[in-house]
Amino acid sequence: MSLLSVVVPCYNEQETVSLFFDATSKILDQMDMDYEIIYVNDGSKDDTLNECIKLYEKHPEVIRVIDFSRNFGKEGALLAGLENAKGDYVTVMDADLQDPPSYLPLMFEELNKGYDVVGTRRVSRKGEPPIRSFFARQFYKLINKFTEVEIVDGARDYRLMTRQVVDSILELKEYHRFSKGLFVWVGYKTKYLEYENVERVAGETSWNFWGLLKYAIEGIIAFTVAPLRMATFMGIIISFIAFCSLIFVVCRALIFGDPVSGWPSMVSIMLFLGGIQLLALGIIGEYLSKTYMEVKKRPNYIIKKIYEKGGKHD
Ligand code: UDP
Ligand code: MG
Repeated sequence: MSLLSVVVPCYNEQETVSLFFDATSKILDQMDMDYEIIYVNDGSKDDTLNECIKLYEKHPEVIRVIDFSRNFGKEGALLAGLENAKGDYVTVMDADLQDPPSYLPLMFEELNKGYDVVGTRRVSRKGEPPIRSFFARQFYKLINKFTEVEIVDGARDYRLMTRQVVDSILELKEYHRFSKGLFVWVGYKTKYLEYENVERVAGETSWNFWGLLKYAIEGIIAFTVAPLRMATFMGIIISFIAFCSLIFVVCRALIFGDPVSGWPSMVSIMLFLGGIQLLALGIIGEYLSKTYMEVKKRPNYIIKKIYEKGGKHD
């Protein structure tokens, strides 16, 4: 029988991990398939680890728990899960049941029709602040303008992948991982199932507006070099305009003489140019810092302990 690995990143999810297990195992038990659920405890500050261990002790044959040494972020947790998954098929799910497990049989059905990946996308953003939805939409528009692959608006990380796809994703060794992009970048035949947004069953989302903004900027910088090109482009246009106005000013001075006036416009032009230069420098700085971090080759996460059948090891 084939094996399905379910990767679940958890950060402060003490209320949800057991709810997640109950809901998901109910579905998985009905499927003609072995499964393992990998909880990755991403340095939670609450009782998540103990809740996971309790579950593991009750169901050691289907649960594994990976405990990080601190909070490394969802990307690190996802990667750890994928790297440790043993399944012929792998799926990634949020612990908060926002990714309905009832879709798993459906996803398998689609996969058997000849797809390599079956993803999910939200068609509505019900229950989300409108301002957040607005910025999210703009983000997808922007990043899709820049990238050669299409990152589908509203696509969740919740997806079912074959072993081959997972191995391809693990081939990408970059430090700044933007999984939404990487999942698409590897290609393969993908089908998206659509569903209405579901609110989390318990606990709080760990994203606030600024966190999301930072995630968006990091995503764009990690995934495209378009902003760098934009800086060059802006430089060319502004230099061209400056050159034309220089000719204009010289001609005017030759014909009409040189009345001393116009310093307010001079100051605004200088400030404008100064601003553009700082912006361009900032963009270069962003890429430089990313390169700096990549060059260091630090791991994306550190595992403190893995709880699994056949020996706990540190
Ligand atoms: N998560 C994580 N590390 C973090 C933040 C979040 O592993 O630093 C997990 C979290 O436990 C959840 C998933 O990532 O399972 C998605 O997070 P959340 O539900 O807060 O995000 P949202 O669904 O609101 O986008
Ligand atoms: Mg969630």
